[in-house]
Amino acid sequence: MQNWAIEIQNLSKIFGRKKVALDDIDLAVPEGSVFGLMGPNGAGKSTLIKILMGIIFPSSGTAALLGRDISNPSGELRQDIAYVPEVQNFYPSFYVEDILGYCQRVYPNWDKKRCKTLLKAFDLPIEDRVRELSKGMKTRLAHIIALSIRPRLVILDEPGSGLDAVIKQEFMRLYMQEAASGAGIFFSTHNLHELERMADQVAVIMKGKLLFQRSLDEWKANSRKIQAIFPEGLPEEIKDLPGLLRVETQGKVYSIVLGDHFTENLERIKALKPQYMDTLDISLEDLFVYTMKKEGYSHEIALLE
Ligand code: ADP
Ligand code: MG
Repeated sequence: MQNWAIEIQNLSKIFGRKKVALDDIDLAVPEGSVFGLMGPNGAGKSTLIKILMGIIFPSSGTAALLGRDISNPSGELRQDIAYVPEVQNFYPSFYVEDILGYCQRVYPNWDKKRCKTLLKAFDLPIEDRVRELSKGMKTRLAHIIALSIRPRLVILDEPGSGLDAVIKQEFMRLYMQEAASGAGIFFSTHNLHELERMADQVAVIMKGKLLFQRSLDEWKANSRKIQAIFPEGLPEEIKDLPGLLRVETQGKVYSIVLGDHFTENLERIKALKPQYMDTLDISLEDLFVYTMKKEGYSHEIALLE
Protein backbone atom coordinates (compact mmCIF):
# COMPACT_ATOMS: atom_id res chain seq x y z
CA MET A 1 0.00 0.00 0.00
CA GLN A 2 1.22 3.48 -0.86
CA ASN A 3 2.11 5.63 2.15
CA TRP A 4 1.17 9.25 1.87
CA ALA A 5 3.10 12.11 3.43
CA ILE A 6 0.04 14.27 2.83
CA GLU A 7 -3.41 13.12 1.88
CA ILE A 8 -6.15 15.67 1.25
CA GLN A 9 -9.75 14.81 0.45
CA ASN A 10 -12.61 17.09 -0.58
CA LEU A 11 -11.05 20.01 1.23
CA SER A 12 -12.83 23.36 1.01
CA LYS A 13 -12.39 26.67 2.77
CA ILE A 14 -14.83 29.51 2.69
CA PHE A 15 -13.85 32.74 4.41
CA GLY A 16 -16.75 34.74 5.78
CA ARG A 17 -19.97 34.11 3.93
CA LYS A 18 -18.90 33.51 0.40
CA LYS A 19 -15.16 33.92 -0.21
CA VAL A 20 -14.27 30.47 -1.56
CA ALA A 21 -10.51 30.13 -1.06
CA LEU A 22 -10.37 26.36 -1.60
CA ASP A 23 -12.90 24.39 -3.57
CA ASP A 24 -13.01 20.63 -3.10
CA ILE A 25 -9.30 19.87 -3.23
CA ASP A 26 -8.02 16.28 -3.51
CA LEU A 27 -4.28 15.86 -3.34
CA ALA A 28 -1.92 13.05 -2.42
CA VAL A 29 1.77 13.55 -1.75
CA PRO A 30 3.73 10.28 -1.68
CA GLU A 31 6.14 9.79 1.20
CA GLY A 32 9.66 10.82 0.29
CA SER A 33 8.63 12.93 -2.67
CA VAL A 34 9.48 16.56 -3.34
CA PHE A 35 6.19 18.14 -4.23
CA GLY A 36 5.84 21.64 -5.67
CA LEU A 37 2.61 23.59 -5.51
CA MET A 38 2.17 26.27 -8.14
CA GLY A 39 -0.57 28.79 -8.71
CA PRO A 40 -1.03 32.52 -9.27
CA ASN A 41 -1.37 35.04 -6.44
CA GLY A 42 -4.48 34.40 -4.41
CA ALA A 43 -4.91 30.84 -5.73
CA GLY A 44 -5.21 29.40 -2.23
CA LYS A 45 -1.72 27.97 -1.68
CA SER A 46 -1.12 29.59 1.72
CA THR A 47 -4.66 28.80 2.83
CA LEU A 48 -4.09 25.13 2.02
CA ILE A 49 -0.78 25.08 3.89
CA LYS A 50 -2.24 26.88 6.91
CA ILE A 51 -5.01 24.31 7.12
CA LEU A 52 -2.45 21.49 7.03
CA MET A 53 -0.56 23.18 9.85
CA GLY A 54 -3.68 23.66 11.99
CA ILE A 55 -3.49 27.46 11.88
CA ILE A 56 -6.91 27.73 10.29
CA PHE A 57 -9.65 25.14 9.98
CA PRO A 58 -11.23 23.80 6.82
CA SER A 59 -14.91 24.47 6.11
CA SER A 60 -15.25 20.86 4.98
CA GLY A 61 -13.15 17.89 3.97
CA THR A 62 -10.29 16.03 5.58
CA ALA A 63 -6.52 15.86 5.49
CA ALA A 64 -3.85 13.69 7.04
CA LEU A 65 -0.14 14.29 7.56
CA LEU A 66 2.01 11.15 7.74
CA GLY A 67 -1.20 9.19 8.18
CA ARG A 68 -2.41 11.30 11.12
CA ASP A 69 -5.69 13.16 10.72
CA ILE A 70 -5.22 16.93 11.11
CA SER A 71 -8.40 17.27 13.15
CA ASN A 72 -6.83 15.21 15.92
CA PRO A 73 -5.91 17.73 18.64
CA SER A 74 -2.96 15.70 19.91
CA GLY A 75 0.27 17.70 20.24
CA GLU A 76 2.20 14.79 18.76
CA LEU A 77 0.61 15.33 15.37
CA ARG A 78 3.21 17.79 14.11
CA GLN A 79 6.24 17.03 16.23
CA ASP A 80 8.21 15.70 13.27
CA ILE A 81 6.78 18.13 10.75
CA ALA A 82 8.67 21.30 9.89
CA TYR A 83 6.87 24.39 8.66
CA VAL A 84 8.28 27.62 7.34
CA PRO A 85 5.57 30.21 6.61
CA GLU A 86 5.77 33.00 4.06
CA VAL A 87 6.24 35.59 6.78
CA GLN A 88 7.91 34.79 10.08
CA ASN A 89 6.11 35.77 13.23
CA PHE A 90 8.37 35.00 16.14
CA TYR A 91 7.67 37.11 19.22
CA PRO A 92 9.72 40.30 18.70
CA SER A 93 10.91 40.56 22.28
CA PHE A 94 12.22 36.98 22.48
CA TYR A 95 15.90 36.23 22.23
CA VAL A 96 16.92 33.78 19.49
CA GLU A 97 18.46 31.60 22.17
CA ASP A 98 15.12 31.38 24.04
CA ILE A 99 13.25 30.39 20.90
CA LEU A 100 15.73 27.61 20.27
CA GLY A 101 15.46 26.48 23.89
CA TYR A 102 11.70 26.31 23.51
CA CYS A 103 12.00 24.28 20.31
CA GLN A 104 14.35 21.88 22.03
CA ARG A 105 11.67 21.21 24.64
CA VAL A 106 8.77 20.70 22.26
CA TYR A 107 10.44 18.73 19.46
CA PRO A 108 11.47 15.25 20.63
CA ASN A 109 14.02 14.72 17.86
CA TRP A 110 15.59 18.16 18.20
CA ASP A 111 19.19 17.93 17.00
CA LYS A 112 21.27 20.33 19.08
CA LYS A 113 24.46 19.62 17.22
CA ARG A 114 22.87 20.18 13.85
CA CYS A 115 21.31 23.41 15.09
CA LYS A 116 24.68 24.67 16.29
CA THR A 117 26.27 23.90 12.93
CA LEU A 118 23.50 25.71 11.08
CA LEU A 119 23.60 28.78 13.34
CA LYS A 120 27.30 29.11 12.67
CA ALA A 121 27.04 28.48 8.93
CA PHE A 122 24.27 31.04 8.52
CA ASP A 123 25.73 33.66 10.90
CA LEU A 124 22.77 33.83 13.22
CA PRO A 125 23.41 35.84 16.40
CA ILE A 126 21.71 33.88 19.19
CA GLU A 127 22.11 36.68 21.71
CA ASP A 128 19.90 39.03 19.62
CA ARG A 129 16.23 39.65 20.13
CA VAL A 130 13.94 38.81 17.21
CA ARG A 131 13.15 42.49 16.71
CA GLU A 132 16.82 43.16 16.00
CA LEU A 133 16.90 40.61 13.18
CA SER A 134 16.41 41.62 9.56
CA LYS A 135 13.67 39.90 7.58
CA GLY A 136 16.21 37.60 5.94
CA MET A 137 17.72 36.67 9.32
CA LYS A 138 14.27 35.74 10.67
CA THR A 139 13.74 33.54 7.64
CA ARG A 140 17.13 31.92 8.19
CA LEU A 141 16.12 31.22 11.79
CA ALA A 142 12.90 29.56 10.63
CA HIS A 143 14.83 27.30 8.22
CA ILE A 144 17.41 26.45 10.88
CA ILE A 145 14.61 25.37 13.22
CA ALA A 146 12.92 23.39 10.44
CA LEU A 147 16.11 21.43 9.75
CA SER A 148 16.98 20.96 13.43
CA ILE A 149 13.77 19.14 14.29
CA ARG A 150 14.91 16.30 11.98
CA PRO A 151 11.60 16.38 10.13
CA ARG A 152 9.90 13.50 8.39
CA LEU A 153 7.88 16.06 6.48
CA VAL A 154 8.77 19.63 5.56
CA ILE A 155 6.13 22.16 4.51
CA LEU A 156 7.42 25.41 3.03
CA ASP A 157 5.35 28.39 1.89
CA GLU A 158 7.39 30.24 -0.74
CA PRO A 159 10.68 29.30 0.90
CA GLY A 160 12.92 31.57 -1.15
CA SER A 161 11.20 34.83 -0.29
CA GLY A 162 13.40 37.25 1.60
CA LEU A 163 16.61 35.26 1.19
CA ASP A 164 19.56 36.10 -1.01
CA ALA A 165 20.31 33.62 -3.78
CA VAL A 166 23.35 32.03 -2.11
CA ILE A 167 21.56 31.36 1.18
CA LYS A 168 18.41 30.23 -0.57
CA GLN A 169 20.23 27.68 -2.69
CA GLU A 170 22.10 26.40 0.34
CA PHE A 171 18.89 25.83 2.31
CA MET A 172 17.27 24.17 -0.68
CA ARG A 173 20.27 21.88 -1.01
CA LEU A 174 19.89 20.92 2.65
CA TYR A 175 16.19 20.17 2.16
CA MET A 176 17.03 18.01 -0.85
CA GLN A 177 19.46 16.15 1.37
CA GLU A 178 16.61 15.58 3.85
CA ALA A 179 14.48 14.30 0.98
CA ALA A 180 17.25 11.93 -0.08
CA SER A 181 17.18 10.42 3.40
CA GLY A 182 13.43 9.90 3.19
CA ALA A 183 11.68 13.11 4.29
CA GLY A 184 8.77 14.43 2.24
CA ILE A 185 9.02 18.03 1.05
CA PHE A 186 5.91 20.02 0.12
CA PHE A 187 6.44 23.59 -0.98
CA SER A 188 4.61 26.39 -2.71
CA THR A 189 6.61 28.58 -5.02
CA HIS A 190 6.59 31.15 -7.78
CA ASN A 191 10.14 30.27 -8.62
CA LEU A 192 9.72 27.81 -11.43
CA HIS A 193 13.45 27.31 -11.97
CA GLU A 194 13.69 26.19 -8.39
CA LEU A 195 10.68 23.98 -8.84
CA GLU A 196 12.15 22.46 -11.98
CA ARG A 197 15.38 21.70 -10.15
CA MET A 198 13.82 20.26 -7.02
CA ALA A 199 10.36 18.80 -7.52
CA ASP A 200 9.47 15.35 -8.74
CA GLN A 201 5.73 16.06 -8.59
CA VAL A 202 3.81 19.26 -9.17
CA ALA A 203 0.28 20.48 -8.71
CA VAL A 204 -1.33 23.62 -10.04
CA ILE A 205 -4.11 25.38 -8.20
CA MET A 206 -6.07 28.34 -9.42
CA LYS A 207 -8.96 30.19 -7.81
CA GLY A 208 -9.10 27.53 -5.12
CA LYS A 209 -9.41 24.64 -7.55
CA LEU A 210 -6.85 21.96 -8.29
CA LEU A 211 -6.16 21.96 -12.03
CA PHE A 212 -3.94 18.89 -11.95
CA GLN A 213 -1.31 16.94 -10.08
CA ARG A 214 1.32 15.05 -12.05
CA SER A 215 4.90 13.93 -12.19
CA LEU A 216 7.16 16.70 -13.45
CA ASP A 217 9.07 14.36 -15.75
CA GLU A 218 5.86 13.04 -17.23
CA TRP A 219 4.51 16.58 -17.72
CA LYS A 220 7.69 17.70 -19.44
CA ALA A 221 7.90 14.56 -21.58
CA ASN A 222 4.38 15.18 -22.85
CA SER A 223 4.75 18.91 -23.50
CA ARG A 224 6.33 20.58 -26.52
CA LYS A 225 6.01 23.47 -28.85
CA ILE A 226 5.62 22.32 -32.43
CA GLN A 227 6.27 24.79 -35.20
CA ALA A 228 4.66 24.00 -38.50
CA ILE A 229 4.03 25.73 -41.79
CA PHE A 230 0.64 25.24 -43.39
CA PRO A 231 0.48 27.38 -46.57
CA GLU A 232 -3.28 26.93 -46.76
CA GLY A 233 -3.82 28.16 -43.20
CA LEU A 234 -4.27 26.30 -39.94
CA PRO A 235 -6.13 22.99 -40.40
CA GLU A 236 -9.31 22.74 -38.32
CA GLU A 237 -8.09 19.48 -36.72
CA ILE A 238 -5.35 21.29 -34.81
CA LYS A 239 -7.90 22.95 -32.57
CA ASP A 240 -9.15 19.55 -31.40
CA LEU A 241 -5.76 18.14 -30.40
CA PRO A 242 -5.89 16.78 -26.85
CA GLY A 243 -3.79 18.82 -24.45
CA LEU A 244 -3.56 21.82 -26.78
CA LEU A 245 -2.71 24.95 -24.80
CA ARG A 246 -2.36 27.57 -27.49
CA VAL A 247 -1.66 28.28 -31.14
CA GLU A 248 0.43 31.31 -32.02
CA THR A 249 0.62 32.59 -35.58
CA GLN A 250 3.41 34.37 -37.37
CA GLY A 251 2.57 34.59 -41.06
CA LYS A 252 2.27 31.00 -42.18
CA VAL A 253 4.23 29.59 -39.24
CA TYR A 254 2.08 28.20 -36.49
CA SER A 255 3.45 27.48 -33.03
CA ILE A 256 1.35 24.75 -31.54
CA VAL A 257 1.82 24.55 -27.78
CA LEU A 258 1.03 21.18 -26.25
CA GLY A 259 0.68 20.53 -22.53
CA ASP A 260 -0.07 16.84 -23.02
CA HIS A 261 -0.05 13.85 -25.40
CA PHE A 262 3.01 15.01 -27.32
CA THR A 263 3.79 11.77 -29.18
CA GLU A 264 0.22 11.17 -30.24
CA ASN A 265 -0.22 14.80 -31.32
CA LEU A 266 3.02 14.75 -33.28
CA GLU A 267 1.70 11.90 -35.41
CA ARG A 268 -1.59 13.68 -35.90
CA ILE A 269 0.14 16.88 -37.01
CA LYS A 270 2.47 14.95 -39.36
CA ALA A 271 -0.60 13.37 -40.94
CA LEU A 272 -1.81 16.87 -41.86
CA LYS A 273 1.29 17.16 -44.09
CA PRO A 274 2.81 20.48 -43.01
CA GLN A 275 5.30 21.98 -45.43
CA TYR A 276 7.80 22.23 -42.59
CA MET A 277 7.78 21.05 -39.00
CA ASP A 278 10.06 21.40 -35.98
CA THR A 279 9.77 20.48 -32.34
CA LEU A 280 10.99 22.73 -29.53
CA ASP A 281 11.36 22.08 -25.83
CA ILE A 282 9.33 24.24 -23.54
CA SER A 283 10.45 25.58 -20.19
CA LEU A 284 8.37 24.96 -17.11
CA GLU A 285 7.82 28.70 -16.82
CA ASP A 286 6.33 28.89 -20.32
CA LEU A 287 4.30 25.79 -19.66
CA PHE A 288 2.89 27.36 -16.51
CA VAL A 289 2.11 30.66 -18.24
CA TYR A 290 0.38 28.92 -21.18
CA THR A 291 -1.61 26.77 -18.76
CA MET A 292 -2.72 29.84 -16.79
CA LYS A 293 -3.71 31.69 -19.97
CA LYS A 294 -5.70 28.72 -21.17
CA GLU A 295 -7.58 28.86 -17.86
CA GLY A 296 -8.36 32.51 -18.45
CA TYR A 297 -5.66 34.07 -16.26
CA SER A 298 -3.75 36.32 -18.58
CA HIS A 299 -3.35 40.00 -17.59
CA GLU A 300 -2.34 40.76 -21.17
CA ILE A 301 -2.09 44.43 -22.02
CA ALA A 302 -1.91 45.50 -25.64
CA LEU A 303 0.29 48.54 -25.10
CA LEU A 304 1.01 50.82 -22.18
CA GLU A 305 0.13 54.41 -22.93
P1 ADP B 1 -1.91 32.31 -2.31
O1 ADP B 1 -1.09 31.89 -1.14
O2 ADP B 1 -2.08 31.24 -3.34
O3 ADP B 1 -1.42 33.58 -2.94
P2 ADP B 1 -4.00 32.65 -0.30
O4 ADP B 1 -4.22 31.27 0.17
O5 ADP B 1 -3.21 33.55 0.57
O6 ADP B 1 -3.39 32.63 -1.79
O7 ADP B 1 -5.43 33.32 -0.56
C1 ADP B 1 -6.46 32.69 -1.27
C2 ADP B 1 -7.68 33.59 -1.28
O8 ADP B 1 -8.27 33.63 0.02
C3 ADP B 1 -7.41 35.02 -1.67
O9 ADP B 1 -8.47 35.49 -2.44
C4 ADP B 1 -7.34 35.74 -0.34
O10 ADP B 1 -7.72 37.08 -0.47
C5 ADP B 1 -8.35 34.95 0.49
N1 ADP B 1 -8.04 34.95 1.93
C6 ADP B 1 -6.92 34.46 2.50
N2 ADP B 1 -6.96 34.60 3.84
C7 ADP B 1 -8.15 35.21 4.12
C8 ADP B 1 -8.81 35.62 5.33
N3 ADP B 1 -8.26 35.42 6.51
N4 ADP B 1 -10.03 36.19 5.20
C9 ADP B 1 -10.60 36.36 4.01
N5 ADP B 1 -10.05 35.99 2.83
C10 ADP B 1 -8.85 35.42 2.88
MG1 MG C 1 0.62 32.59 -0.36
